[in-house]
Amino acid sequence: MLNPKAVKLTPGLYLVATPIGTARDITLRALDILTSADVLVAEDTRTLRKLMEIHGISLGERQVLAYHDHNGAQMRPRLLGLLEQGLALAYASEAGTPMIADPGFDLARAARDAGHAVVAAPGPSAVVTALTVGGLPTDRFFFAGFLPNASGQRKTALRRYAEIPGTLVFYESPKRIAAMLRDAAEVLGPERQAAVCRELTKKFEEVISGTLQHLAGICADRSLKGEIVVLIDRKSSENIHESDLEALLREALTQQTVRDASEAVAARTGLPKRHVYQLALKLGQHE
Ligand code: SAM
Repeated sequence: MLNPKAVKLTPGLYLVATPIGTARDITLRALDILTSADVLVAEDTRTLRKLMEIHGISLGERQVLAYHDHNGAQMRPRLLGLLEQGLALAYASEAGTPMIADPGFDLARAARDAGHAVVAAPGPSAVVTALTVGGLPTDRFFFAGFLPNASGQRKTALRRYAEIPGTLVFYESPKRIAAMLRDAAEVLGPERQAAVCRELTKKFEEVISGTLQHLAGICADRSLKGEIVVLIDRKSSENIHESDLEALLREALTQQTVRDASEAVAARTGLPKRHVYQLALKLGQHE
């Protein structure tokens, strides 16, 4: 067994990713940092203490300070003061990667602005975990975090994401998943492919795939529990206008050969390679 080891950390703020479910989904380096930091800072101090206990890391004389959305403004000067003293601070949010729909951004920015080292200890995040198992394209994705709770604002936000040429990733609460899928089907179209990824890395992990309409129907009938990521496919290639296709090809042709440009645009739009190649050939001859 590889035990966490004490290492000499240089002063700075260490942003430590923690598991999103299974407690052993933590890196050895994250454990070393939690073992060795002078001060521990956590969005939820109880969760961090428990995680350290599971991994046999003793707190010793060290403090675990709370840093979250409600006390950030008061805590930042204090934490900056500790950095000023040349200490190594480890910060963990409640689960996953700090700053990904979690606190930490303002603290990291303040530390960087004050000239302190900001160091990542990368690890789990529900965005990447969902993309890994969700079955939708991962070549490009757009992380939209949580949508607004109110239906009107949620639909407005969804309209802004409608044309994004990549997989859309949303975090959603089980309370709102049915309404969110219903609104998404209405705004983005019922036939878009999507996946509801639930309880990732946990005992009841589940991925439910299908069109938005199908998933909205499932969630209307069945109440889903636990933590959820929703993936929504980009707009279908059938809806791409010829003028948009030409614009994409023209842009690609400024840098690439006809073959490379048509391959890249076909991959991006999902359109048949032959059709894209012939159009690229035509445009290439004219230009
Ligand atoms: N910082 C975290 C990360 O890196 O993914 C996200 C924190 S955010 C406050 C919590 C949301 O992330 C949940 O409401 C859910 O949408 C998503 N999430 C976190 N853990 C998850 C899991 N095990 N399975 C599915 N979704 C999860």
